[in-house]
Amino acid sequence: MGRIVAIGECMGELSETGTPGLLSMGFAGDTLNTAWYLRGMLGSDWQIDYLTAVGTDTLSQRLVDFLATERIGTQHIRRLAEKTIGLYHISLRDGERSFTYWRNDSAARRLASDPAAVAAALQDADVAYWSGITLAILPAGDRVALLEILSQFAGRGGQVVFDPNLRPRLWDNADSMRGWIHRAAALSSLCLPSFDDEAAHFGDASPADTVARYRDQGTSRVVVKNGPGDVTIADAMGRLDTVSVPSAQIVVDTTAAGDSFNAGYLAAELVGASMADAAAAGAALARKVIGARGALVRQALELQGE
Ligand code: ADP
Repeated sequence: MGRIVAIGECMGELSETGTPGLLSMGFAGDTLNTAWYLRGMLGSDWQIDYLTAVGTDTLSQRLVDFLATERIGTQHIRRLAEKTIGLYHISLRDGERSFTYWRNDSAARRLASDPAAVAAALQDADVAYWSGITLAILPAGDRVALLEILSQFAGRGGQVVFDPNLRPRLWDNADSMRGWIHRAAALSSLCLPSFDDEAAHFGDASPADTVARYRDQGTSRVVVKNGPGDVTIADAMGRLDTVSVPSAQIVVDTTAAGDSFNAGYLAAELVGASMADAAAAGAALARKVIGARGALVRQALELQGE
């Protein structure tokens, strides 16, 4: 029996249906996507909880109901009156997606404003999963509180797994983003960056540079995703290896490629796979996810094992 707590923001997703005036409503968000794929990959001996904050309105309740239906634990979700969940809208024009967000004042920004509740949620957990987006949306004081709680969790032997998921628009400025991301990586034992983001915002010339930079911060193990390119892994001794990614027959929508890779990787490793085998499992899941539209592709889980 093990327990994973994913920490972050889940938003309502409004997408066009093709019928003018008719939108469909779903739920997604980087850490939620990973939690959802973890739930699909791991057996019932693993509990997956989602830690966030929502409002007390009907839409917030729909999100909580959705998580519960998907067998993701909701007992650590805070309810804040007068706040609600963030929303985003996806429109598709000539195959190109564009996004509009309403998330500046979302309830999730307060997810760490009761540090004792966060600490209690992590009591007895085995793994805490979070991302640079989780960190970006918090007020600075709450960032410090969350870093402290996760650092204590790691000190007790908990595994902290971090995807930097660099999103400069969520940060005041690039220097602030880089500084906080490195503080977060320093207390995380496994870091799962994507090379294109790291190259763009840290100037890394190669995935090996990304590995070296995060290991310099104190992250023990690093797995660098690189789209269709090889995954670069570094073990706790700093030994590098690469794992090739199976080519995708058709790429329909790359939404959640990285999030699903992380889930496939972690699920495999938690049941005993080596880093190289876990990376192959992550790539196999991500390949199925990018073959269909949307962040949460149920079919990708049904196809597991093929
Ligand atoms: P992110 O979605 O975070 O930007 P990447 O684009 O690096 O992350 O992709 C994450 C993973 O998804 C890759 O490591 C790979 O396994 C898979 N993937 C992404 N794009 C492709 C592709 N074109 N063909 C096959 N696999 C892909």
